[in-house]
Amino acid sequence: MKGTVRLGRIAGVRIGLHWSVAVTAALLTLLPARGLYPYAHPGYPTWVYWALGLATATGLLASLLAHELAHAVVARRHAIEVRGITLWMLGGVAQLRTEPRDPRTELRIAGAGPAISAVLGVLFTGVAAGMNALGAPDLAVTAVSWPAGINVVLAVFNALPAAPLDGGRVLRAFLWRRTGDRLRATLGATAAGRFVGWFLVLTGFVSVLAGGSAAGLWPALVGWFIIAAATAEACQERLRDQLAGTTVGEVMTLWPVTAPSGSTVAQFLADAPLGRLRHSAFPVLAPDGSAVGLVSVTRINRMPLKARSTTPVDAVMRPLGNLETAEPEDSAADLLPRLSSSAERRALVLHAGRLVGIVSLSDIGRAAQRPANLRHRGRPA
Ligand SMILES: [Zn+2]
Repeated sequence: MKGTVRLGRIAGVRIGLHWSVAVTAALLTLLPARGLYPYAHPGYPTWVYWALGLATATGLLASLLAHELAHAVVARRHAIEVRGITLWMLGGVAQLRTEPRDPRTELRIAGAGPAISAVLGVLFTGVAAGMNALGAPDLAVTAVSWPAGINVVLAVFNALPAAPLDGGRVLRAFLWRRTGDRLRATLGATAAGRFVGWFLVLTGFVSVLAGGSAAGLWPALVGWFIIAAATAEACQERLRDQLAGTTVGEVMTLWPVTAPSGSTVAQFLADAPLGRLRHSAFPVLAPDGSAVGLVSVTRINRMPLKARSTTPVDAVMRPLGNLETAEPEDSAADLLPRLSSSAERRALVLHAGRLVGIVSLSDIGRAAQRPANLRHRGRPA
């Protein structure tokens, strides 16, 4: 996600915060500090409510993180590389580099998140009950019960059988195992996702109209997000299915125009046959011929004209470490999700460490539109 700050690593998983999580943090602090706590337990100094509100928000964000970490850790245990976890306005996302290979793996990864939320809900409830028994002030007990309740809600909401929610993944795993058909399973789970999404949008708006409170906008927003994500997921799965058996080598552009590392941007623009090319990003090669990065027209256009004659391409390129790479024999369908979430929307194709081609999201899209009998090897039965 653009606009994400990296926080560090937990259990080897990279943690990031998207700026929009500030909205959630503010709401999670404000709601208890200015509403719930003073309303339920009046008479304390204002700073007490604020401090407890802040503690509540921190506890809830940590709970969200624990939920996503559970997905990530289980995925890694199944040899699925995890790019990282990002917390944003509507919760968290654990970004996996590849899709689960079988229904059982999918089920375990998807189930881990809600399971942890449920465990946290029970833990917070236990602590609240213990504090109550020991005679702790009611306000403190409420400050622990509220996160308990939210964790239970998180577990239940995420377990709804609607893609892209965790429950939707569980449903997909179930359908996948029963039918053996991943496409049909995904279409079923995403149809359920759109249904739940529309239900949330409609109930949200009805509650705004009937109750006059803006609080209904929140479920409506979540519903809208679910509809969009479910639709995108169904599209991507159809594309995946059309691409079955197609390799990266078949859809890539072979021997693309490259930029020599060390040359200035102006030199590269003067020497490269850019006029005839439909490409807008060029691999940068070191003198020994190894790929070191990718320079895009967008990045060049962003720099001042005057700087072009003095700036080396290396200074504007995206370095290899931040790029997607593939081998010619990799499956094009597997590369698809990595490309759609990458910044450059293209990957360098390397063979034995040497650049052989470049493949973009549109190259893969075009390949999927070819008639089935022209697609290499066709679909495995
Ligand atoms: Zn989850």
